[in-house]
Parts: sequence; structure tokens; C-alpha cells
Amino acid sequence: MSRSNAKEQASQKLMLGDFDPKALPASQKIPVIARPFVSEKAKQALDVIERFVEEDCIPADPVFGALIGNTPQSRFTSHPQLLEDLKDKARKLGIWNMFLPKAHFKEGAGFSNLEYGLMAEYLGKSFLASEACNCSAPDTGNMEVLAKYGTEAQKRKWLDPLLDGKIRSAFLMTEPNIASSDATNIGLTMKKDGDHWVLNGFKWWSSGAGDPRCSIYITMGKSDPGHKDPYRQQSVILVDAKTPGVSVKRMLSVFGYDDAPHGHGQVVFQNCRVHESNMVLGPGRGFEIIQGRLGPGRIHHAMRSVGAAEKALEYFIARCSDPGKKPFGKFLHEHGVMLDRIAQSRIDIDAARLIVCNAAIKIDETNAKGALKEIAEAKVLVPKTLLETLDRAIQAYGAAGVCQDTPLANMWAHGRTMRIVDGPDEVHLQQLGKAETKRGNAAFQKINAQKKRTAQLYKQFGVTQTDILDMSFKNVSGAKL
Ligand SMILES: Cc1cc2nc3c(=O)[nH]c(=O)nc-3n(C[C@H](O)[C@H](O)[C@H](O)COP(=O)(O)OP(=O)(O)OC[C@H]3O[C@@H](n4cnc5c(N)ncnc54)[C@H](O)[C@@H]3O)c2cc1C
Repeated sequence: MSRSNAKEQASQKLMLGDFDPKALPASQKIPVIARPFVSEKAKQALDVIERFVEEDCIPADPVFGALIGNTPQSRFTSHPQLLEDLKDKARKLGIWNMFLPKAHFKEGAGFSNLEYGLMAEYLGKSFLASEACNCSAPDTGNMEVLAKYGTEAQKRKWLDPLLDGKIRSAFLMTEPNIASSDATNIGLTMKKDGDHWVLNGFKWWSSGAGDPRCSIYITMGKSDPGHKDPYRQQSVILVDAKTPGVSVKRMLSVFGYDDAPHGHGQVVFQNCRVHESNMVLGPGRGFEIIQGRLGPGRIHHAMRSVGAAEKALEYFIARCSDPGKKPFGKFLHEHGVMLDRIAQSRIDIDAARLIVCNAAIKIDETNAKGALKEIAEAKVLVPKTLLETLDRAIQAYGAAGVCQDTPLANMWAHGRTMRIVDGPDEVHLQQLGKAETKRGNAAFQKINAQKKRTAQLYKQFGVTQTDILDMSFKNVSGAKL
């Protein structure tokens, strides 16, 4: 490259400080309550990630969209070099596989759930960033399954190439013909035949199954439908995507978006024979595995959603300062209602971040099981915050906000799925509600005891209980209003 070309390229490079010299780097924006739990190593990585996302990934997002083309064939068979270039850069920067928490796995980059949570926020601002750092769903949850429950042979065959970013994976639990939020309904049959399991049935919403590099389906089925314990009837087995008898029937759209090349597949199993050595943990352990998988996965979605909400707010305030868009002669931010909405978004996002940090700290202190309440709180609150923030931003853009000219419409479509993915809001709210209600009787007893104590104190101090708003005196005195 000639010297003048290199100079031109350097001058075109996006430098965050050029836009706002006073902007604080990510490491200095960590919430106060989380700071004591964040290592120096993580702080440095956070700053690197922020710049990588803002300067390399976000500008590359629309280019990737253009590179995969516009026919279903090209969109689900392409793998643009652009993504591999970003992955190379992320590896060189040392921001790779940050999601595997150091307390539970030796294979990761050595960060805690909280530290990764803060990083995932930045990854959530870009379509490509998570995959560029090998931290994208559903691979993250799938790698955790393999690292946590896999045999050595299963790990070498599937975990190593996944950790290396060479292949991708899908998690197949949801089915079209049942209510899948209750996984005891799972209908895909798994019947033993010699040293193989034979799988028959249907799956859908198998995220990642559209990617040409998706090589493994971590599949849940019913291996023992007669077991008296409904939570021991299911098993999880590793299915090589090339196994005869398994095929992707079609891809599903999300509010019209195909999410290519990752996508969400409807997958059919017809007498698909899988060797018994591919069973994870053993027959009947499926529930245990999905519970172990979904905890951290849910919090990862929440962490990325906080970043998406920050991006929405950035778009919102940018529009409010756009000199070309001044309705009724004023900047949008000079219309009071917009300031109000900006402030509300700031409050909501900061609150959502705290609830996510709290859940991550609790997982670090115990494990995902010990943090069920905190994870559920984040799982419900954060998508709501994201959608409300996006809605305000979209409104500020007018018609531009609902079309393809900003990322907001696509982000809303994706954000809306978060209220359904990994269990709908209602299921989490019901569990939270039940857990709170367990204290109901104790609360009832305590309040009654407090009332009794108040009555004793009235007596002790010789006063009677009076209601200063009691108006019955009017009748006695005949007073009129
Ligand atoms: C974009 C996207 C990606 C996905 N990726 C994957 C994936 O990779 N792998 C996978 O296996 N699945 C995936 N899913 C599927 C997702 O996990 C399921 O859709 C979810 O678990 C709900 O199951 P269901 O769709 O069968 O809804 P159902 O179980 O039929 O529930 C429908 C509705 O009933 C209501 N409901 C359910 N339970 C209760 C209750 N207890 N109280 C009150 N109301 C209730 C809720 O409103 C709920 O939305 C994905 C879904 C989407 C949208």
C-alpha cells in the first residue's frame, strides 16, 4: 500500500475520541456497585472491546448484510470473509471466548460472569460483534453444555472446534406441535436400537441451523415416556448435522426478518440413528442439562440487550440533535416531551444494567441455580426496557424509524423475541410470584403482630386510636361546609 493510501485510510479510521473527547472509556463507566468485583485485566479488555465494537464491528454490520446477498440461497450459504477478518482481529486483541466463567471452566478467557456481562453489553450493540469474539448464542450456551457435561471424546470432537470458532451449533428443544415452554411436553421420540438411538419428530426455532457451518444439533427428546417422574423422561443427545435422517425443512422469519445466515430452522428427524456415545450425561438427564444451560444463557441475552438499549438511546439523542430535522423550528431536544423520554430511557437502562450486574454477581458467588430469582428478574425486566427505549427512539425518527434506514426496526423485532425466547415472561413471572407468595403467611402474621403491639402501646401511653379524617363530628355540631 502506498504511503498516501495508508495515510488516507488512517485518517478515515473512526476514532471515538474524535467525536467526544470527554467520553469516558468503558472501564470508567462500570456501575459503582459492580466496581469492586472487576479485575484490572477485565477493565483493560472492556476498553478494547468497546473500541473494537464501535470502530470495527458496527461499521461492518450493514456491509455484511450486503455481502450475503438477497436470495434465500445466497443468504443461507454465504460466509463472508469480512467476518473471518473480524474474528482474526478479535483473537489478536485477546478478546475471544470471554463468556466461559473462570470459576467453573478452565477453557475460557478467565473472566467472571459479571466481567463478561459488562463486556456483552458492548457486544450487544452490533450484529457481528458477538460472533467476532466467539461469544454468540446459541454457541455460548452449547459450549457450556459440552464443557460442563460432555465426555472427553465429545469435548474433543465438538467443543474444541466450537471454542476455536471453526464450526457453529444449534440447540433443538422447541417443537411446533406442543406448548414448548413446558418441556415435559417434548414429543421427539428417542428409541434404543442396539447401540444406537433412533430419533423421530419435529423441531423448530432451531437458531443457527441456517448457518452453513452449523455442524452439531444438541437435541432434546423423550427417551423414556413411561418414567413415573415426568422430569426423567427426556434426554439430550449430540446429533451431527450430516447424520442421515435429519434435515432442515425451512427457515422461519422474525417479523419478516430472516436473521440470515444464522437463521431459525424447522428441522425434521426421520429414523435418524445416533450412536449411544453421543448421549450427554446419560438417559433421563435431559432436564438437568437444559436447566444448567438456560441459566447463564438467559443472563447473556439480558446483558446484550442492555447494550442494544444503549444503542437505541444513542440513536434517539442523535436524532434530537440533527440540525436537518427541526419540526416547528426547534431541535427535537428543545421539545420538552423528548427530554422527558430521554431521561426516562436513561433511568430505565441504568436500572436494567444494575439488575443484570446483580444477577451476574450472584451467579459468580453461587451458581446459576443459586441465582434463579435474580436471573428471572433480569430476564423479564431487560427486554421490556429495551423495547420501551426502542419505541421512544423509533417515535423520534418518525417514519424513518420503522423502515430499513436505521437499525431500530430490526432491533425491535429481535428485542421483541426476548420476551419469548428461553421461556416466555409469564413462566418466569409465575415462578417469581410463587416464590414471593411463600412469604405471604409470614408477612400476614408479622403485620398482625405489629398491630397487636400498636394496641399495647396505645394502652401503655393512655391514648386512643383516632382517625383525624373521621368527619362524624359534623353531625354532632351541625357544622356546614
Ligand atoms: C427468535 C427465536 C429464537 C429461538 N431460538 C430457539 C432455539 O435456538 N432453540 C429452541 O429450542 N427454541 C428456540 N426458540 C423457541 C422459544 O424458546 C420458545 O418459543 C419458547 O420457549 C416458548 O415456547 P412456545 O413457542 O412453544 O410457546 P408456548 O409454550 O406454546 O406458549 C405460548 C404462550 O403461552 C403463554 N404461557 C405459556 N406458559 C404460561 C404460563 N405458565 N402462564 C401463563 N401464560 C403462559 C405465554 O404467553 C406464551 O408466550 C426461539 C424462539 C424465537 C422467537
